[in-house]
Amino acid sequence: MTGGPAGLDGKVVIVTGAARGQGAAEARLLAAAGARVVVTDVREAEGRAVAAGLGPESAVFVRHDVTSADDWATVTDTATTAYGRLDGLVNNAALWRTAPVDRETYDNFELLLRVNLLGPFLGIQAVLPALRAAGGGAVVNVSSTAGLTGLPGHAAYGAGKFGLRGLSRSAARDLAPYGVRVNTVHPGAIDTPMTAAVAAKDWSHVPLGRMGRPGEAAELVAFLLSDAASYVTGAEFTVDGGLTA
Ligand code: NAD
Repeated sequence: MTGGPAGLDGKVVIVTGAARGQGAAEARLLAAAGARVVVTDVREAEGRAVAAGLGPESAVFVRHDVTSADDWATVTDTATTAYGRLDGLVNNAALWRTAPVDRETYDNFELLLRVNLLGPFLGIQAVLPALRAAGGGAVVNVSSTAGLTGLPGHAAYGAGKFGLRGLSRSAARDLAPYGVRVNTVHPGAIDTPMTAAVAAKDWSHVPLGRMGRPGEAAELVAFLLSDAASYVTGAEFTVDGGLTA
């Protein structure tokens, strides 16, 4: 008997950036629904703790920098070695740094594109052989409402998140013949360590009047990974309390 959404039991899913925040919530929800989760992050201690909390039957941790193709190979090998197959990938890891465009730096712009856009691209390429071997699968790319509209101070972050939408839609077209679905999720303000500095802000401009909880974003991600979303690909979904309504 499992909790969480149906259509995930027995699936093997990689979640990047799963040491904390939304990624950790996704790992826990997927495990509760009967999936096996490869928890990956550059944060080793926190990532190991998330996986340990789920137990070896449900989760394994891999130290993983999403900008490294070698690390991606280790992650996919671990998934198939530990659990025998691979069915899904959540490109969740990202960095959030803000600066007005006129004060943005070359180094920061490049870093955010590498982590937030190149990383998901490398991930899609890395998991594809295993997803094809499994007869198909699902990729969920975590963008942002900053990937839907321009925000002050978000030239680097927004460029990466807008780019991720384009990557997702293109990949959905390319990979549909292999039964691989690719969708994008756009969280609004979610209460995680990434946004801890702004959590005490007034959120009355959000129609639902508050920040989202990590588990609320995880529910949408889990649905898109599940068989319940079997006819959904190349699509984009907000989980933003109505912010962009
Ligand atoms: P978070 O900072 O709590 O978690 C992100 C995780 O990514 C961290 O554990 C971090 O160590 C990891 N990470 C960073 N760089 C990495 C790298 N190179 N390789 C591997 N892992 C790396 O943030 P969160 O709020 O849980 O964010 C999850 C996703 O949601 C991100 O894609 C973020 O851009 C997106 N998002 C968040 C919000 C929000 O309000 N929290 C809003 C919109 C979109």
